[in-house]
Amino acid sequence: MSRRFEAPKGTFDQLPPASGSRAEVERIMLEQARLAGYQPIETPIFEDTAVFARGVGEATDVVQKEMYTFSDKGGRSLTLRPELTAGVVRALIEHGRLTTGLTKVVCSGPQFRYERPQAGRQRQFSQVDIEAMGSDAPAIDADVVLVGHEVFRRLEIPVTLLLTSLGDPVCRPAYREALLAFLNGLGDKLPAAARARAEQNPLRVLDMKDPLVEELTAEAPLMRDFLCGACKAHDEAVRELLAGAGVEWVEAPRLVRGLDYYVRTTFEWQAGSLDAAQNALGGGGRYDGLSEALGGPPAPGIGWALGLDRTVLALEQAGRLPADPWRLDALVLPLVPAAVVPAQGLVRDLRRAGLVADLPYVERTLNGHMKAAAKAGARTVVILGEQELAAGQAAVRDMTARDQLPVPLDQVVDHVRRVAGGGAP
Ligand code: AMP
Repeated sequence: MSRRFEAPKGTFDQLPPASGSRAEVERIMLEQARLAGYQPIETPIFEDTAVFARGVGEATDVVQKEMYTFSDKGGRSLTLRPELTAGVVRALIEHGRLTTGLTKVVCSGPQFRYERPQAGRQRQFSQVDIEAMGSDAPAIDADVVLVGHEVFRRLEIPVTLLLTSLGDPVCRPAYREALLAFLNGLGDKLPAAARARAEQNPLRVLDMKDPLVEELTAEAPLMRDFLCGACKAHDEAVRELLAGAGVEWVEAPRLVRGLDYYVRTTFEWQAGSLDAAQNALGGGGRYDGLSEALGGPPAPGIGWALGLDRTVLALEQAGRLPADPWRLDALVLPLVPAAVVPAQGLVRDLRRAGLVADLPYVERTLNGHMKAAAKAGARTVVILGEQELAAGQAAVRDMTARDQLPVPLDQVVDHVRRVAGGGAP
């Protein structure tokens, strides 16, 4: 026998029926983005390696340890995207979209990071991402956060919004110096891993999950106390807008996030139900300066990404997965040869009405069909037997209530819609 294969380590196959609820979560995020004026954009899954090295930052874990980088047959260094922002900004620069006005885009798809796989941390994972470029007005910061607020509200999942300001190139250098002096003052007490981080980017010591590091840095200086006037005014305006829109947040002065490009407004949504190391369902922030770093015009921007896999995990654990719109509303069963053509017609009518309808295509006993329909999660089974045909009816079985009613053929669509609770009106 030939060798059988498995999905590569850290990757997962998404199979039905679980894949249906996952696609629904993605659809909800895309829809909220659409309602807020974000338009779809698609960029390649791989980019010139330098796009990420320069965009995400040479000193980040993502660039140093986690990128899937390869040379193609033409000798180019390419990298599977570890995140969406850098590629989107590259595309907007390339197509001259950053010269005037505001550009709001949304995209989704797989990301690749060579991480240690565990629950909620994979090597291939999916994100849905929104980006708004061309304005540094606090109102746009509030706008991107509000999209997430509405998504989590619709998903009915309790999350905490962590919010901070990371300052900007005017005020952050002084803070960096102060933090570095504090960390150096700790000397050998600081674990080697933290000292190594301090050399690369001292801010990243603050979001290490190591309890000893947390204790040692409990009194570390905070960016919040070093904000320049412009950053402070921006931060206050964003908070006022969020509060006005009914958004609650928790002050998170130690929130750094793993990517180097963030300035000013930075945020993350956490789910209480997941393990602390993987509880971030989504996050992002402002990245004024990224366009210039990628050779583009000055163009401030802000965006964030929803981690689809983790959000689905959190919804599953909370027992709140959205209803699966791919589930069958009606399995139509022709029991005699004369019922095959009317059954096909009924399936067509149900589908035209926006209901998910199908035929069995395989030979089974009636009992076997019923079991298969229950296993597939069908909401109704529409039975066309000899007696029903003669009476111009179908027997419609409600698979949840487990009762069965004779329904005139021309009323089957309405009846199924009532029982299944879906379809177009
Ligand atoms: P980031 O691009 O690092 O800002 O991450 C945004 C979101 O993507 C996070 O909040 C997670 O939900 C998700 N995410 C990041 N890395 C992974 C991963 N390795 N596996 C699964 N989800 C991830």
